[in-house]
Amino acid sequence: MATMLADEQMTRTTIEEWLRETDERRLERLWKAADETRRRHVGDAVHLRGLIEISNYCVRQCGYCGLRAGNRQLQRYRMSQEEILDCARKAEQFGYGTTVLQAGEDYGLKTEWIAGVVRAIKRETGLAVTLSLGERPFEDLAAWREAGTDRYLLRFETSDPELYALIHPDLPGKVSDRFAILEALKELGYEAGSGVMIGIPGQTYQSVAADIEAFRSLDLDMIGVGPYIAHPLTPLGDCSWGREIPGEDQIPGDELTVYKVIALTRLACPDSNIPSTTALATINKEDGREQGLMRGANIVMPNLTPPKYRVMYEIYPDKACVNETADMCRGCLQGRIEGIGRHIGSGPGGRGDQTG
Ligand code: SAM
Ligand code: SF4
Repeated sequence: MATMLADEQMTRTTIEEWLRETDERRLERLWKAADETRRRHVGDAVHLRGLIEISNYCVRQCGYCGLRAGNRQLQRYRMSQEEILDCARKAEQFGYGTTVLQAGEDYGLKTEWIAGVVRAIKRETGLAVTLSLGERPFEDLAAWREAGTDRYLLRFETSDPELYALIHPDLPGKVSDRFAILEALKELGYEAGSGVMIGIPGQTYQSVAADIEAFRSLDLDMIGVGPYIAHPLTPLGDCSWGREIPGEDQIPGDELTVYKVIALTRLACPDSNIPSTTALATINKEDGREQGLMRGANIVMPNLTPPKYRVMYEIYPDKACVNETADMCRGCLQGRIEGIGRHIGSGPGGRGDQTG
């Protein structure tokens, strides 16, 4: 049975025990501890980051993701600068403090072009800008920071090097080292965000405990954790890639386990921004987002992508909110957030910024 977690007691072994905990009364104590820590360190505001999925082209072959280059059944798109700006204006109108531009690792998104889009958003709106465009070279990251980008998101997906190498193949001649990129982002003055998927085939309880330790030692500004959701047109989804581990070591990607990881992450990293993710809202459409917010999370990323593109950004099937418009997402989220006694934060909502 797991012992209650004071900061200094968060060893890999105790984290793993909590990940395996099944006693509901004890889990209630974990939720309460995470919620209190969240309230004390980042307050009751829920900050909204408007997500714009600007391109679904990708050069990579990640075993888990529907956007992988090998998925020839996906129709590809790239948004124009004007389309992106329209979405950013909408983010401002809706009172969101940040816009997040996300895409596959798409070298068709030229360095200077992205810098120009960031400058235009900064010129026209008061929004903080986050980029999530994959493992771009240092020079690109430097140019985008120079253009005014505030934050960059790059999940390390799993801290288990063997599993990572299996599910996230290198590009020819270029070793994938997301930890090194996270360090470079910090050096460049970005707020750095990362995170992992939970329930990847071949992922152990112990390795997720190590992920949570890594969140703490990397001192991340934002940490996103969500369930792995199988996509049938990927090698992990159709089981053609995998590694054998004993069944009792495999961590599940169910709702309860994701809540445990969110709560433990809050306890390990009290002042980081932690989103209640779309993947969580996908496996519990009814109230997954609210449950995440009540167990340590303080951020939501409403989707601003125009519906005609949204359906093509299919990283996994049956994604939450795929048939909704930006306006519908705004209204729905406000109701959900107020329904649990919280309020929408104002301002950019950076780390340590408790305005609103
Ligand atoms: N290409 C960029 C990258 O990989 O960082 C950004 C876009 S990528 C679609 C964003 C995140 O989606 C990844 O970091 C990964 O954690 C998540 N993702 C991809 N496939 C997934 C799946 N099948 N289930 C859950 N999350 C998934
Ligand atoms: Fe491309 Fe990112 Fe999907 Fe990997 S996770 S295939 S890099 S979009």
